[in-house]
Amino acid sequence: MKALVKKYPEPGLWLDDVPEPEIGINDVLIKIEKTAICGTDVHIYNWDEWAQKTIKTPMTVGHEFVGRIVDMGSNVHDLKKGDLVSGEGHIVCGRCRNCLAGRRHLCKDTKGVGVNRTGAYAEYLAIPVTNVWLCDPNIPTDVLSCFDPLGNATHTALEYDLVGEDVLITGAGPIGIMSVAIAKKAGARYVVVTDVNPHRLEMAKAMGADHTVDVRSEKIEDAIKALAMTEGFDVGFEMSGNPTAFNDMIHNMAHGGKIALLGILPETSIDWDAVVFNGLTIKGIYGRRMYETWYKMTTLIQSGLDITPIITHRYHYTEFEKGFEAMKSGKSGKVVLDWTS
Ligand code: NAD
Ligand code: ZN
Repeated sequence: MKALVKKYPEPGLWLDDVPEPEIGINDVLIKIEKTAICGTDVHIYNWDEWAQKTIKTPMTVGHEFVGRIVDMGSNVHDLKKGDLVSGEGHIVCGRCRNCLAGRRHLCKDTKGVGVNRTGAYAEYLAIPVTNVWLCDPNIPTDVLSCFDPLGNATHTALEYDLVGEDVLITGAGPIGIMSVAIAKKAGARYVVVTDVNPHRLEMAKAMGADHTVDVRSEKIEDAIKALAMTEGFDVGFEMSGNPTAFNDMIHNMAHGGKIALLGILPETSIDWDAVVFNGLTIKGIYGRRMYETWYKMTTLIQSGLDITPIITHRYHYTEFEKGFEAMKSGKSGKVVLDWTS
């Protein structure tokens, strides 16, 4: 079958012929219809330091997908051939304390599809049945292919009660932009978004941001004044992975404010005095809750959440280079690759 493979330990991806995956008794075989490109895939493509120490070549990459079940192992009874499915890219051990308690996003031994084991940029993908999410076929497949990052946005945005709260989002990447719409739908009063990229701030506005701040020329304090807020932000979502953005956030939170930290920060010097004296809560957010987040994002979409404006580019999988170029340009939202023909 065709697959996009990190074939050699150097920048790039290779469209290659690889064997179809074999299924075990608890696995499901999925014929891939659409995949989306994640920032992680761009790291792997670029072969940066993180990718070099994480990826063992050759590796079929990709973990954002939707497809249809074509085969299943003998232990799988509750799904059928033809079912439209996406899936959780974090394969968990199922036996550790957190897994047994139903907190599978906190598994002590998570393995990543398309990172530590063969991935979804391929005609077929095999995953355990416990990782399959049965999709509502009324939701467009483009949108379903983005459920993994939409799940990151949903997990982060629903971590704290947002009703009537003022929310600061640092970083208007695809996940930051999706979280704008979720925060508004969940009842936030004001949602303010920062970035250094005007294209992305425009997208954030289109998704419902009340105010955007280009931190190259503006300050978050200006937004606080413009919206006549008095005490700073009640809730923060850090979604840039940028240390300056994180410190900007810490300094603009209301006393007792709560931060959900999704962005992966390099070694960062944090103003701990501001955290302590202002009584801030900072909570790390990893992946998606299995499967409460998947349930919530499905029902959010069923009740009107529209993330289609975020899907800015669509290509056939053979044109994957164009997709990665779009991702690297800084002018894209989500980029979706079509595997149906
Ligand atoms: P992205 O890289 O597309 O978006 C980050 C955005 O932050 C960009 O638009 C960038 O211009 C902006 N930015 C850069 N410097 C800034 C600054 N000083 N102030 C404000 N914004 C700034 O990333 P994404 O795919 O949307 O993901 C968001 C973050 O979440 C990344 O750090 C990613 O690594 C992380 N992530 C974490 C998890 C998890 O499970 N914890 C999962 C997925 C992604
Ligand atoms: Zn576990």
